[in-house]
Amino acid sequence: MKQLVLASGNAGKLRELSVILDDLGYQLHAQSEFGVSEIAETGTTFVENAIIKARHAASVTGLAALADDSGLEVDALGGAPGVYSARFSGPAANDQSNNALLVEKLQTVPIAERSARYRAVIVLMRHAADPSPLICEGSWDGVIHLQPAGTGGFGYDPYFFLPELGCTSAELSASEKNRISHRGKALAELKRRLKGHDV
Ligand code: IMP
Repeated sequence: MKQLVLASGNAGKLRELSVILDDLGYQLHAQSEFGVSEIAETGTTFVENAIIKARHAASVTGLAALADDSGLEVDALGGAPGVYSARFSGPAANDQSNNALLVEKLQTVPIAERSARYRAVIVLMRHAADPSPLICEGSWDGVIHLQPAGTGGFGYDPYFFLPELGCTSAELSASEKNRISHRGKALAELKRRLKGHDV
């Protein structure tokens, strides 16, 4: 089996990706198995941050590395919170404080101008100096509502309304969300492209 390291400390991501990669003949390892520490996400784009994380894990372990990055872009806020989605309301941010700030900033913006999308990027670097990383992307369009609905998902989901489904992403089951979400799309692309890729 080919060995890959995941540049993340998130056990949920490791499980989700392991299932897909196992089918394709890849064994995925957590970066913690090799003592890789988290690296600061200093990029201003999702692609930059995913590459920073993958390059760091590849450089420490000598293995090919996978990393992902994701976030919410709100058009009326010029694409914010974007790469700062997890820390939108400051260093001690959590989902509740981030959502409170989002609602505050959009309070006077009419619903027709509250378009937004989630984006996810997954990057595979064959080695730390790989000049052409495999970059897989997914996006998911919605509208920000100012009242929450639903208890599923995480992050901004209770406010992320999907007009074509008539509900928020927090009202979807986990399997339905994974099937149609930004991350689901990026993962499907990764799977498709890994089939023909020699890592
Ligand atoms: P990360 O890519 O795991 O660092 O996630 C970045 C941040 O983007 C999360 O902490 C959430 O605030 C937001 N985010 C990314 N994907 C989702 C999602 O599917 N639902 C809700 N929030 C999300």
